Amino acid sequence: MYPSRFRYEAPRSIDEAIELLRDGGGEAKVLAGGQSLVPLLKLRFAAPELLVDINRLPLKDIQLSEGILHIGALVLNSDLAAHDLVKTHHPLLAQALLAGASQQLRNMATVGGNMMQRTRCTYFYDTTMPCNKRTPDSGCGAIGGINRMHAIFGASDNCIAVHPSDMCVALAALDATVTVTGPKGNRRMPFTDFHRLPGNTPQLDNNLGKGELITAVEIPANHFTKNVYYLKVRDRASYAFALVSVAAALDIRDGVIHEARLAMGGVAHKPWRLPDAEKSLAGKTPTAENFRIAAGVATQSAKAYKHNMFKPALALNSIQTALQKAASV
Ligand code: SF4
Repeated sequence: MYPSRFRYEAPRSIDEAIELLRDGGGEAKVLAGGQSLVPLLKLRFAAPELLVDINRLPLKDIQLSEGILHIGALVLNSDLAAHDLVKTHHPLLAQALLAGASQQLRNMATVGGNMMQRTRCTYFYDTTMPCNKRTPDSGCGAIGGINRMHAIFGASDNCIAVHPSDMCVALAALDATVTVTGPKGNRRMPFTDFHRLPGNTPQLDNNLGKGELITAVEIPANHFTKNVYYLKVRDRASYAFALVSVAAALDIRDGVIHEARLAMGGVAHKPWRLPDAEKSLAGKTPTAENFRIAAGVATQSAKAYKHNMFKPALALNSIQTALQKAASV
């Protein structure tokens, strides 16, 4: 049976936090905004022996230096969406943030916490059903069950869940970098390498090492300041996770697409970047026909399940719509 009690610590420095995560004994969890972790604690799906509250750490800064936007891991989603540097330099990120959750949740949710949130697959939260992510090697309730919300890209025979974030889709499209610190020091990784595909280890959502802490996300300078669009298709207009979402960014010069970025949400275990579709758009004019071709390239490897057979077509149409909207801004 899971333990119901845990030790609570609120370190004042990053070094102290890392020491606690390394030496605290037993399983430790990091508490930031708590929007994902606290419900998991209540359900006993997360049962740490130590809870490290990082809200006193100096990770709340947003700075632009030499064209790189540095975003501390504890910046709130609502503050980030409203920040002038984000609205000016990375409007795609602002749009994606505002498409996520509700205003109340965005007021509490942090950048790092958003990245660490777990899937919303209903079988993951139903202890009467098998779930390889919750209990490794127990099976997957969704593959033969109701899988309307599930993946069409990058799934495995062990898990077909999707990552629920909108913010992360934009960060993947914008070539962001994640900075982490831990017992072995600091390291950086491309944002697209942070989350994992399920493979044989669906219990692992990301590549954060034991005792490591996300400290920041950095976005390099780009030319995606005008022709961008974040499209989120969901069952209701407020507070729903994406059936399909598309982050589209175009750098159009003299009527020609110099560079394109495309990523999708609601379709894979991680934010799903579409490099082949991006390449198909480079050097082309921003026409409906070229957007149709790119959407075809993007979705040709889609694999649907019994209840999400509609998703490949929805993805195809959503990519075309997002590109058209981005081009016409
Ligand atoms: Fe669990 Fe993944 Fe299967 Fe959902 S799709 S039941 S999270 S193993």
